[in-house]
Amino acid sequence: MDAIVVGAGIAGLTCAHALAQAGKEVLVLEARSRVGGRIYSHMLAPGVVIDLGAQWLGPTQERAYRLAQTVGAALFPTYTEGESLVDFGGQQKRYTGIVPNLGLWNLLDFGRGVSLLDKMAQQVPLEAPWRAPNAEAWDSMTFATWIQQTLRTRVGRWGMRLFAEAVFAAEPGDFSLLHALFYLHSGGGFERLTATRGGAQQDRFVHGAQALAEGLAQRLGAERLKLNSPVRAIRQERDRVRVYCQPHPDAPTSVYEAKVAIVAIPPALAARIEYDPPLPPARDQLTQRLPQGSVIKCFAVYDRPFWREQGLNGFVTSDVEPVHLVFDNSPPDGSVGILLGFIEGRSARQLSGVDPERRREVVLQVLARYFGEKARQPEHYLDHDWSAEVWTRGCYGAHFPPGAWSQYGHALRAPVGRILWAGTETATRWMGYIDGAIESGERAAQEAIEILSVHPDHN
Ligand SMILES: Cc1cc2nc3c(=O)[nH]c(=O)nc-3n(C[C@H](O)[C@H](O)[C@H](O)COP(=O)(O)OP(=O)(O)OC[C@H]3O[C@@H](n4cnc5c(N)ncnc54)[C@H](O)[C@@H]3O)c2cc1C
Repeated sequence: MDAIVVGAGIAGLTCAHALAQAGKEVLVLEARSRVGGRIYSHMLAPGVVIDLGAQWLGPTQERAYRLAQTVGAALFPTYTEGESLVDFGGQQKRYTGIVPNLGLWNLLDFGRGVSLLDKMAQQVPLEAPWRAPNAEAWDSMTFATWIQQTLRTRVGRWGMRLFAEAVFAAEPGDFSLLHALFYLHSGGGFERLTATRGGAQQDRFVHGAQALAEGLAQRLGAERLKLNSPVRAIRQERDRVRVYCQPHPDAPTSVYEAKVAIVAIPPALAARIEYDPPLPPARDQLTQRLPQGSVIKCFAVYDRPFWREQGLNGFVTSDVEPVHLVFDNSPPDGSVGILLGFIEGRSARQLSGVDPERRREVVLQVLARYFGEKARQPEHYLDHDWSAEVWTRGCYGAHFPPGAWSQYGHALRAPVGRILWAGTETATRWMGYIDGAIESGERAAQEAIEILSVHPDHN
């Protein structure tokens, strides 16, 4: 065996597929009973698919669009016709365009903050954020501190908090300013990250995003993929790696050997694998510092998208707990109406583990506030708490708290002997997104091919 890939998310599958294409012998070991990882589509009814995980692609995510085309996954634009709703400070307003008019002074304040961020982000090198001119200062403060120091208005600060929740599923105090800037540069700027039309929320998958992972798995071939195979330990020897899998503590351990191992899982989970010999301190301490965000994705399904009849497009931004962001997530033909509410950051931490009935009640109450009493009575309701997923432990991805990038960033992608690192968290462009996962898988495959070819005598 040339290579073992740990994890059948998009990163691992991309990597394995590239290796197989290059004529290498490869095996993917996946903990779950399915492929896709943070991509997880659920068939609600014939023709109605709900993406419990990733669901959008947007401009400049060329790798992801290419993959969609390769596997024949059709896309359609997110619904944006009509007016959006803002609910802030106890008042609701309808608006069109990207930013609600909450007063000139507020708009100027927020706009100034956004343009400052975009300008600073340009100075952050994507391959090495710690080499930014002000890296040390930017990495020693949280994004929350920067907001406090820079934004003057309550509305402006709320807008930035919403950005933190929507993009990182975390609170502004959880990650450093340098991380916010890196991420902005990685995804192409504030508007690109946050917009629907022209931004990262532009297009959805007609039959669910999981088609990407399933299409890749099919091309890879069933003989190269083992499901229900959580990797517990990796031992490196002079000329090979041994990878130990055990579904649960009472089960027998399966051992696989290869010349290289590619670990394509979130850093927090990579830290739970036992390594022999132990990983270098920088790599281990890096993974001690990269927590996953917190998000619960909530879906209320109605007989029709009734809000459209009121001239609304279903999009809401708000400061009402616990749902600050809502989208119209109906299927392309509008045969049923689906509202998607996000519970993110602190609110997700509070509502994780709460009785599901109680959570349903709280979410529907907020939706009724936004869209009227009919919203309280969906035909179906379901939600998905990603922090409770044992093989993900939080989403959308990892965030870097103060000090992580500047002191440990160099260990993020650096191979450790015959162990290589992939996963969206290791991407330079679109880190945290499907596109970044693909980039990381391609890069790791290239690194593996180099190791396999540069020292053939050691293989
Ligand atoms: C709710 C939600 C919404 C999102 N929305 C979007 C979006 O709209 N657009 C977008 O581009 N991105 C979105 N994302 C992010 C996107 O899903 C991820 O960036 C991408 O799927 C990550 O792929 P990956 O292969 O790097 O990691 P993962 O998908 O996490 O894959 C890792 C795989 O490794 C497996 N694994 C973990 N530990 C082990 C182990 N020890 N042994 C074996 N296998 C293991 C896991 O089961 C998993 O299958 C969203 C994510 C979530 C959760």
